[in-house]
Amino acid sequence: MAAIRRTDTRPELLLRSALHARGLRFRKDYPVRAEGRIIRPDIAFTRKGLAVFLDGCFWHGCPEHGRPPKSNNSYWLPKLAKNAQRDREQTRILTDAGWTVIRVWEHVAVEDAVSAVREALRGVGAE
Ligand SMILES: [Zn+2]
Repeated sequence: MAAIRRTDTRPELLLRSALHARGLRFRKDYPVRAEGRIIRPDIAFTRKGLAVFLDGCFWHGCPEHGRPPKSNNSYWLPKLAKNAQRDREQTRILTDAGWTVIRVWEHVAVEDAVSAVREALRGVGAE
């Protein structure tokens, strides 16, 4: 899986620095405690209650690039299904705790990701 595995967090770095360049201030990997769990959104606007997840296409099953490997399906399919389930669960827990949650695919161009975040911030009355 070496060819598919993400060895760096480049999309996250790009998005964080693009947001920062626009004067937006946020926390990274901020621990949100809810329902006895700790959830760390990739980007958290703590005062506005906006959590942003940048989802890797492979691990999170993006509809465009998330096709599981053809071999070893019995290993990958449950693993990827579990990831998708955990994503939904985390979104639900955060939403119940009063957060607004957006999830952005890592294949999304950084400008589009920034627009999505700003739109969400406007949605929570923050911009
Ligand atoms: Zn994708």
